[in-house]
Amino acid sequence: MQHSVISYHSGPFATVSMGLPGDHEGKTATRVFFVRGADRIALIDSGLFGGLPALEQAFEELKIARGDLDLLLLTHEHMDHVGNNGWLKAETGCTIMGHPGRADRVADNMLNAKAIVHAFPEGEHFDLNTEYLDWMGPTEGPIDDFVRDGDEIDLGGGVVLEVVEVLGHSMAEIGFFERSTRTLIIADPLLPPFNPVLYLYEDPSVMRATFDKIERFLKERDVQAVLFAHDEVKTAAETIELVNDCRRRVDQVEASMVTHIKANPGITFADLRDKCCDDQNMVREWRALVSIDASLKNFSEKGLIEKRGDGWHYVG
Ligand SMILES: [Zn+2]
Repeated sequence: MQHSVISYHSGPFATVSMGLPGDHEGKTATRVFFVRGADRIALIDSGLFGGLPALEQAFEELKIARGDLDLLLLTHEHMDHVGNNGWLKAETGCTIMGHPGRADRVADNMLNAKAIVHAFPEGEHFDLNTEYLDWMGPTEGPIDDFVRDGDEIDLGGGVVLEVVEVLGHSMAEIGFFERSTRTLIIADPLLPPFNPVLYLYEDPSVMRATFDKIERFLKERDVQAVLFAHDEVKTAAETIELVNDCRRRVDQVEASMVTHIKANPGITFADLRDKCCDDQNMVREWRALVSIDASLKNFSEKGLIEKRGDGWHYVG
C-alpha cells in the first residue's frame, strides 16, 4: 500500500504534505489543506510543482473527484503555494480566489520569480530556474475572484471560512478562519524555528503588527487549532509561544544588523546579508536579502542609518 500523503485529518480538514527540495529533515514540507463543506470543497494553496504526485494521490485517498473541487484559495504568491495552480485549473475547473495585492505575480511565473529573486541587484545573482521557476508548473493559474480581510466563503453545512489578512512575510498574504471548528489556517506569517532561512519579512513593522494581530485573534476568537504551511498543527497556547519566538527572531535579525553596521562603517548590502546569516547559521540565499533590505529601509526611515556610496553607516 502507498504511504498516505494526508498528514492531518479532522472535521472538514485534510492536510496534504509535500516535501521541499533540499528538505530540512522533512520538517519544512509545504502543506495544502482541503476543506469540505456540505455544498462545496475548497483547497487552500496548490503547493509546489514537485508535490503534484502527492496532490494527485490526495484526490484518490480522499475520494474527491477532480471535478468536485470548487475553489482554490491562495494564501500568498510564493512559489511553494501556487505551483500547481495551472494544473488544478485545467483538471478541476475550480475558481481561484486570492488577495488582489499580488495578482499580477500569480498570473505570471516569470514576473513572480523576478520580483523577489532578482529584486536586489546589489546583493548577488541567483538562478531563477533552480531558485524559483522550477518550483512551479509550466502554466499559471491566475486569480479569478479577489477576497479581502473579513470576507466570508460559505462552503455549506455551517463550514464558513473567514478571510484574515496577515501581512509582512508577503504584503499580500491572507489566512482563513473556519468558524464551526474555530480553526485558523495560516501559511507563512509565523515561520517555524527549524526553518533554515533567515526570518523572511518584507516589512518588519508590518510583520510585528501581524504578530500582535494573530495573538489577539487567537484570544478573541477562542481558536482551537492552527494549521500551518510549514509546521505541525498547534493549539492557541502553542501558537502564542511561536508568535513570541517569531518576535524574538525578527528582533535578532535587526540586532545583528545594527551590530555589524556599527562595527563595519560602510558595510555593503551583500556583506551585511552574509554576516547576519552567519550569525544565525542560516543559508546565504536570496530570501535573506528580502529581510535585510526591509530592515535597512526601516532603519533608514527612522534616521538610524544612512547610505554613502555603496555602504551603510550608523548615525543614530
Ligand atoms: Zn511564503
